[in-house]
Amino acid sequence: MGALPVFRWHLAPDGYATRRQLRAQGLRPGGQGVAAQLERPRRRRGPLVAYLYRIDCAKPVRPMTPARWAALAKANAARRRCPACRRDAGYVIPTSLGTCVPCAYPDPYGSEGST
Ligand SMILES: [Zn+2]
Repeated sequence: MGALPVFRWHLAPDGYATRRQLRAQGLRPGGQGVAAQLERPRRRRGPLVAYLYRIDCAKPVRPMTPARWAALAKANAARRRCPACRRDAGYVIPTSLGTCVPCAYPDPYGSEGST
């Protein structure tokens, strides 16, 4: 550490990716250390730092087992359940609303069959 190459934000060289970017490709760092870092200057605070990993050293994410799929499905179902009406909204409850859309914006005209 300390001798890492530092790149400007948006100027990361090819072949490097953040953990999030690796994840989007089904990859994980796979035991390699941080290979480089990105810094984005911010006003009055220290720079925002993102750590980069080498894509050629990355490994595939461990395959999902049925138990892991089940746990994921359960977690996703919990995120779709509206805490106000307890129904599965069919989408992840927006954190900005905290409830499903019909609970957040009740239809003043009633919703009896109208579209
Ligand atoms: Zn609701």
